[in-house]
Amino acid sequence: MSRQTLAVWKFASCDGCQLSLLDCEDELLLLAERVEIANFVEASSAIVEMPTHPYDISIVEGSITTAHDAERIREVRRNSRVLITIGACATAGGIQALRNFADVEDFTAIVYASPDYISTLRTSTPISAHVPVDFELNGCPIDKRQLLEVIGAHLAGRRPRVRAHSVCVECKRRGTVCVMVAHGTPGLGPVTHAGCGAICPSYDRGCYGCYGPMETPNTEALSARMAQLGCEEIDLVRVYRTFNAGASAFQRASEAHEAHGVDGGGA
Ligand code: SF4
Ligand code: SF4
Repeated sequence: MSRQTLAVWKFASCDGCQLSLLDCEDELLLLAERVEIANFVEASSAIVEMPTHPYDISIVEGSITTAHDAERIREVRRNSRVLITIGACATAGGIQALRNFADVEDFTAIVYASPDYISTLRTSTPISAHVPVDFELNGCPIDKRQLLEVIGAHLAGRRPRVRAHSVCVECKRRGTVCVMVAHGTPGLGPVTHAGCGAICPSYDRGCYGCYGPMETPNTEALSARMAQLGCEEIDLVRVYRTFNAGASAFQRASEAHEAHGVDGGGA
């Protein structure tokens, strides 16, 4: 049986999600029996060019922040049969989407000694804003078991078994006491996509939403509860503006609290 070809592409990102794939180690050897890793510059300089056929599976990390990358992702899409995006950068614009709420020139002026050399877009946007995407895998970084499930599912021609429920369900499954109920610790667990195994609450920390919004997040109810726990409007703006600030549910929530704070409705 011929192996399917796999390509991994990087856009604006920290490489942490690609490292999750390298971190698979033993599983990578098994995977290599089923797929030919044809293009993965983080792992190897050997690249298999595909002049006549598209890559069977392309995995994309990172967001679109330059005009050049906006063109490059279209080329990747043309050269890919299946395109999977991985991580908060690729699925929601990443931490760099904080520029979407400000003037990017203010940031470049502070960060770079010679900002005139910087050519960048005003926004950081997810891959799905530019090309059709076959599957989005959340996380910052992603979970390697979920990544293997997604790749394996596409190799087998079935739907990936990636649940869309909240981190709260994961806490219940592992028997972790709710930090919000028991200790009054604010957190985004009730509106955050599962996948991490509820790591932070297991260390008595609130979830800060690195897996992005779950399928049907009730941010209004959660915000009301966090306000009862002492969060002010500015805290609620900030809590939704981290790795997944550009995810629509978190963006709407942060903008609502920002407007409420400006209107004087907040504390
Ligand atoms: S989602 Fe997080 S870990 Fe993955 S590339 Fe972006 S910043 Fe890095
Ligand atoms: S912040 Fe939330 S989603 Fe991220 S690892 Fe912690 S518990 Fe999981």
